[in-house]
Amino acid sequence: MKNLEKIKNFILDILFPIRCLECEIELENAEPKERWICPECLKKIRTRKDQACPVCEQFSEGGKTHYRCEKETALDGLWVATEYKYEVVSEAIHKFKFDFICDICFPLSEILIRSILEVDEYDDFQDLALVNFSQESEEEEIYIEEQKNKKAETIIVPVPLHKKRYNWRGFNQAFLLSEYIARKFKLDICDNLLFRKRNTKPQTTIKSMKERRENIKGAFFISECLDVKKMIKNNNVIIIDDVCTTLATLSECAKELKRVGAKNVWGLVVARR
Ligand SMILES: [Zn+2]
Ligand SMILES: [Zn+2]
Repeated sequence: MKNLEKIKNFILDILFPIRCLECEIELENAEPKERWICPECLKKIRTRKDQACPVCEQFSEGGKTHYRCEKETALDGLWVATEYKYEVVSEAIHKFKFDFICDICFPLSEILIRSILEVDEYDDFQDLALVNFSQESEEEEIYIEEQKNKKAETIIVPVPLHKKRYNWRGFNQAFLLSEYIARKFKLDICDNLLFRKRNTKPQTTIKSMKERRENIKGAFFISECLDVKKMIKNNNVIIIDDVCTTLATLSECAKELKRVGAKNVWGLVVARR
């Protein structure tokens, strides 16, 4: 079986060699997921230093929604890992989503993880994301374990895809990213709570902000399952997507999650267009 896999990869390499999207190097001995952006180029992608308010996009400590902007969104904040204007980032996102290359979720989630850990000071978002995670000593781990019962949990919710779109693409890019993040930070994923009702037009095909907001309104619904709802109630949620454009999708998801009792709801995306 292993040999068969090797032969398959060997043939695929010849037919479709994977070159790093940035330096075009072909890493022959690496796993496919490590080849789309080679480790050297991955390290060089800068993460966002200053986060911004999701609504007005002006500076805001740690990406928190300004008090004055709160009426515009149900999101408590948004964490953006890097910049869409970096060509390698936008190209990777595009290949991930539209060329159906699911291996690209690996470098993208590496960027997400690095951006969360690579800050001088931990803010509100880190409090949520790192509630179960520690790079410290074992004592610290025990401390965190003790605190866990007292504190709210943080649940990861991927932005859902409509079934039709899922069948077409074969995977939900937001779910794949969520898996990496959840594994790294020891958080639970809940992907059977929020669903997409209508097969809305892809947001990218609509130009006006107002139309985008209208297009997404009422597009999500919450599962009737009580156990699933219980998972969210009084807990914090991080909604994950690959890119955020107008905030309409994340805001709509946050609104639904708060309806079933989520405490703080934050968005986490690779980049903002
Ligand atoms: Zn490279
Ligand atoms: Zn603002």
